[in-house]
Amino acid sequence: MDMKRLFVPWYDKIKPYKTDDIALAWQDQDLHRMFVNENPIVPSEKIVEAVSNAARLGNRYPDNGVRIRKKIAEMHKVSPDNVYIGNGSSEIIELMCRLFLAPGDEILLPNPIFSLYEIRALNVGASVINVDVTADMQYDTDAMLAAITPKTKLMVLCNPNNPTGGFIPDEHIERLLRAGIPTLLDEAYLEYHPDHESKDYMIKEYPNTVASHTFSKAYGMAGIRFGYALADETIIQAFRKIQIPWSASLLSIAAAEAALEDRDGLRRKIEYNNAQIRYIYDKLSKIDGLRPYFSYGNYIIIDTTDLGVDGQEVVDYLFQEKKIMIKAVKTLKDRPGIFRISVGTTEENRACVEGIKTFFAGRNR
Ligand code: PMP
Repeated sequence: MDMKRLFVPWYDKIKPYKTDDIALAWQDQDLHRMFVNENPIVPSEKIVEAVSNAARLGNRYPDNGVRIRKKIAEMHKVSPDNVYIGNGSSEIIELMCRLFLAPGDEILLPNPIFSLYEIRALNVGASVINVDVTADMQYDTDAMLAAITPKTKLMVLCNPNNPTGGFIPDEHIERLLRAGIPTLLDEAYLEYHPDHESKDYMIKEYPNTVASHTFSKAYGMAGIRFGYALADETIIQAFRKIQIPWSASLLSIAAAEAALEDRDGLRRKIEYNNAQIRYIYDKLSKIDGLRPYFSYGNYIIIDTTDLGVDGQEVVDYLFQEKKIMIKAVKTLKDRPGIFRISVGTTEENRACVEGIKTFFAGRNR
């Protein structure tokens, strides 16, 4: 019996989120993981202790984070009824797709952007409409507004954008939100810039907005899994209705609570990251023809298209010669030379920059 015949009709269009490289990096500890925007700094002892204390009550189901939702609400000056907690911000992406997209609907996505939005939208049978960024790697707001059709049921704005690294100007965000399309405003990397305010307040004026945050990036807890959404109460209640219960585990809630207490720890991680971004950007800017784009996240893209180099060539070279794993960004048709580096340890960042220098020195000879 051909089991595939029984699957949903859009099954063949579904793409998996590829995790093979992450599995490989776990198997071989000599590999340098600079490809999935992880934080290179391990969780503090306070976080480890909180997780281990929570584990002693691990026979019990968790609540839905009454205490932490209150803390998050205070931080963002909203009510706890405006806060949903989950298994990383990936869960928020999933809930948005399940709540707003039916087969045949469209999701509007800037390109390039984090791949999971497309993947989860395809999973519920929606079609993806991509709008390329402008030549200077900014969202093309006019083109995005022009791409809205009666079928557009979800839009994503990632601020700062992964992988291009820039912030979207406030007036552009507002113009896009005013279109009234349910919109995920993904603020996964915002904590790296505490001087740059969250757009959390927009959920009041534009109830079609859901702002999402994660503890995977600046807080450095990608493997622990904790994220949250801020939205109008009606949307939060809908998330709770369709969610898988207990998606935020007792351990991840405990870790997140401890992380929120540790403001100094967060500040140190932020300072480290931003200094390393500056280092990578400055060093690579000095290589003729190479175009790094300054980033406000924990990653940075570099464009080598003008040197006639494909991003994948650099990725392969660093992997073979230095055991460094970075990522090619191949979604812009006229710019095949883009690759992304995630900030690693100081040694890794230095080795990566030196490796790239050697690669280009070798080509110029
Ligand atoms: N949003 C963006 C923009 C991301 O880059 C990522 C992870 N790379 C996520 C969401 C998902 O992260 P998590 O589920 O770990 O919160």
